Amino acid sequence: MSEQNVHKEQSEPIAAIATPVGAGALAVVRISGRGIFDIAQRVFRKTGDPEFRFSRSKGYRAHFGTMYDREGLIDEVIALVFRAPNSFTMEDVIEFSCHGGPVVVRHVLQVLLDEGCRLAEPGEFTRRAFLNGRIDLLQAEAIGEMIHARTESAFRTAVTQMQGTLSVRLETMRERLLQSCALLELELDFSEEDVEFQSRGELERELAALKEELRKLIDSYRQGRLLKEGVATVIAGKPNAGKSTLLNALLGEERAIVSHMPGTTRDYIEECLIHEKTMFRLTDTAGLREADEEIEHEGVRRSYRKISEADLILYLVDISGDDLSGELSRIRQFHEEYPAARLIVGANKTDLAGDAPEKLQMLRQETGCEVCGLSAAKGEGLDGLLHAMASIVERLDKIHDASVLVTSLRHYEALRNASDSLDNALLLVKSGEGTELIAFELRSALDYVGEITGKVVNEEILNLIFERFCIGK
Ligand code: GDP
Repeated sequence: MSEQNVHKEQSEPIAAIATPVGAGALAVVRISGRGIFDIAQRVFRKTGDPEFRFSRSKGYRAHFGTMYDREGLIDEVIALVFRAPNSFTMEDVIEFSCHGGPVVVRHVLQVLLDEGCRLAEPGEFTRRAFLNGRIDLLQAEAIGEMIHARTESAFRTAVTQMQGTLSVRLETMRERLLQSCALLELELDFSEEDVEFQSRGELERELAALKEELRKLIDSYRQGRLLKEGVATVIAGKPNAGKSTLLNALLGEERAIVSHMPGTTRDYIEECLIHEKTMFRLTDTAGLREADEEIEHEGVRRSYRKISEADLILYLVDISGDDLSGELSRIRQFHEEYPAARLIVGANKTDLAGDAPEKLQMLRQETGCEVCGLSAAKGEGLDGLLHAMASIVERLDKIHDASVLVTSLRHYEALRNASDSLDNALLLVKSGEGTELIAFELRSALDYVGEITGKVVNEEILNLIFERFCIGK
């Protein structure tokens, strides 16, 4: 790990297609780094201005002209010039807008590579923006999240993070930690004289306050994760209850194999369902029963694991049969074993049960659960079910205002580590331990918080973050 180094020098020139592959009206190829004005000069002629030189162009200027390779004309393009440090990467940048055909774009890119650019690695433009101090690591990650957001709320959260709200919170916290740490280290310098620059009572209060700040952020991860990754929803129930049929009905397509033979969903299937603002990750599990075949046994084991990780369990009961006592005890068992997950009971096959209303009533009374009457096969009751699912998520959600959501596992883990270090520091302060040990714990808390924003740079973390980006970003 090292403190972030703000680059002053421009790095080697890179080029990449910035727009999606495939035919479109327009495409953008961008280049960034040392010497790009000379490279561009060799392949571009500004229309009506033979004397034009990129090196003399002002920033934020668009120039219309033609681009050439050794064979001749490639395309008419607009070259948009950004001068360092006023660009995304803080280096000299040119964006060429050309026609959007895949062959045209490839030619434009190729001639820039032939003239001295290197093809950019995934996320390299954003990585440079980070390394040159244009954005912090949180903002860089938010750009990736914004591009990949699948729901409105995930998109909004990413935009807020990109604007730096979480960064500011973390930076303030870091400064306060740094302050306490500096005072302790000063004490170490004066250790002969037995002085305290911050009374232990004050230090304890400050650390407790910082820990509380951390706790709020850590707690927000539950909501953040739901937003970003979707609500992990498991459809469980005995074989033949209608789980696969329900999954298909919810998704509106034939995805899971539906069959009359119990136990056909051997493994689990995961599909995304976007309902209003929320994304549900639906998992259809193998039927829960004593498995007699080896492979099915594995399926059942995985079902239980999926259930234990779920945010929401949809337990499906076939109410066309007479005896529901076994099902009642299983639902109660779920309630006891998985308190973190929320349970909805789907009373399926209402079309076959003449006494459906009575059975629904009985299930409600006996289990205290939300019970939705369904006919998965006929697609009845789906609206009611979706409504129940959405209102449970709303309850899970109602913890935080969206401005300070932690959405990434990386951030969550770093925050947990920082909080553990503060716990250790607090224990040391309370038990009257030496300054050196306390300072050590505060330093490690500082490193963990710094890792999130990128104040403390860890190459491995950078690689992990940027390899998920596409080339050209
Ligand atoms: P799973 O083992 O729980 O996944 O159950 P399936 O979805 O494979 O369904 C088992 C059988 O029940 C199939 O023949 C379905 O067509 C049938 N089925 C599922 N839901 C309903 C329903 O609401 N009404 C009726 N009549 N049949 C259903």
